[in-house]
Amino acid sequence: MSDRMNLFEMATAQFKKAAAAMKLDPHVYAVLSEPQNEIVVNFPVTLDDGSIKVFRGYRIQHNNTNGPYKGGIRFHQSVDLAEVKALAQWMTWKSALMGIPMGGAKGGVTLNPREYSEGELRRITRRFTYALGNNIGPEYDIPAPDVGTGPREMVWMMDTYMTMYNASDRNATRGVVTGKSILSGGSLGRDKATGQGLVFCFEVWAKHVGFKIPGSTFFVQGYGNVGSWAARIMQDGGSRMLAASDHTGAIGNDDGIDAHDLAKHVAKTGGVKGYAKAKALDDPAFYGTKADIFIPAALECTINVETEKYIKAKFVVEGANGPTTPDAEKNMMDRGITVIPDILANSGGVTVSYFEWVQNKISEVWDLERVDAELKKMMTRSTEHVIEEMKTRNVDPRTAAMTLALSRIEAAHRERGIFP
Ligand code: NAD
Repeated sequence: MSDRMNLFEMATAQFKKAAAAMKLDPHVYAVLSEPQNEIVVNFPVTLDDGSIKVFRGYRIQHNNTNGPYKGGIRFHQSVDLAEVKALAQWMTWKSALMGIPMGGAKGGVTLNPREYSEGELRRITRRFTYALGNNIGPEYDIPAPDVGTGPREMVWMMDTYMTMYNASDRNATRGVVTGKSILSGGSLGRDKATGQGLVFCFEVWAKHVGFKIPGSTFFVQGYGNVGSWAARIMQDGGSRMLAASDHTGAIGNDDGIDAHDLAKHVAKTGGVKGYAKAKALDDPAFYGTKADIFIPAALECTINVETEKYIKAKFVVEGANGPTTPDAEKNMMDRGITVIPDILANSGGVTVSYFEWVQNKISEVWDLERVDAELKKMMTRSTEHVIEEMKTRNVDPRTAAMTLALSRIEAAHRERGIFP
């Protein structure tokens, strides 16, 4: 039987569980249970063959109690309102958990980017940005990359947004998006930030439970930004990758797969399929990989009751947002598997996005050592807080991460009250 639910229902189930564990103020619960703003835009774009297609884009602004709305833009064929609402809510928890002065948002366009030329993607991104207009802004709502988007799309968004301002005011709007290229005002270390943050988080967790990373083994689902960086950094820390998968298939090698070499193969061919130094795996063999750590870094709900039963790893470290359904998570906890939740494990991305925003605001350029050191400090602090909260409240890791985040938002709400 499938336990798949719409993603907003899943986010709501997690929210309800954490709210009950901490007895969240019911008024704050009501405010946070729906996004503040739901923006849907339908916009036309001329395709290469001269035809015109209308695309649907979303920007969901969940909460800005602690600062401007913040969250990625996804280009994927499955993007819909429920998905973007869930992702926006998770961004609010993530920003609060990391203690950064930002709220939560998410956006996306329903399309498969692999079906469009670079010119078409440029026109789609620019027209989407134009349609959003002043619903985004460097002090209001700051998008970033997510599945199917990267620095290229962020620079197009920045450039389009800037043109809506007088020439003399344009530079001040550079921080309207993060995850930009270095040339256009991006931060060093933003490309690897989510994978790097995941490894910093896991290092703290491993130390806490007495697990040694050097000599350990792992496997990764999704070999895009998050998965491929997490894999390369785990390998550089002495762990060995036994399997990897992406939209083209899954591959494995019990003797290990070189994460850097696989990244080169993916850059050249577009996917992990056909990598010569590994064999193809089916789903049971991939999920059942005999490795210590599983890093899901693709899409949501991939770990459900149908796939969970194969998992033998000791740790599931969530690089993706929402990769684990509540039933699968419960089953894994019952089997003694530790699930380190998305809002903690993958928060390195939003953290370095915040550093990029700060650098843009004060016209500074930080070197990589500084970015990494600041990221490590923040990931270490948040991971230690979550471990402490688990003990204090006697709850699982996800609930602990959420109760910490919610208690910070609740305190800010209490202080401000409700207008009028
Ligand atoms: P990406 O587009 O760079 O990579 C996504 C990967 O998932 C690709 O390798 C793709 O082939 C793979 N994939 C797609 N469908 C798959 C399937 N059915 N089975 C296996 N693999 C599949 O995206 P990303 O930025 O790396 O994002 C991955 C996840 O991490 C998403 O859940 C995203 O929300 C989350 N995340 C990203 C960031 C960030 O900074 N980019 C930050 C936090 C969380």
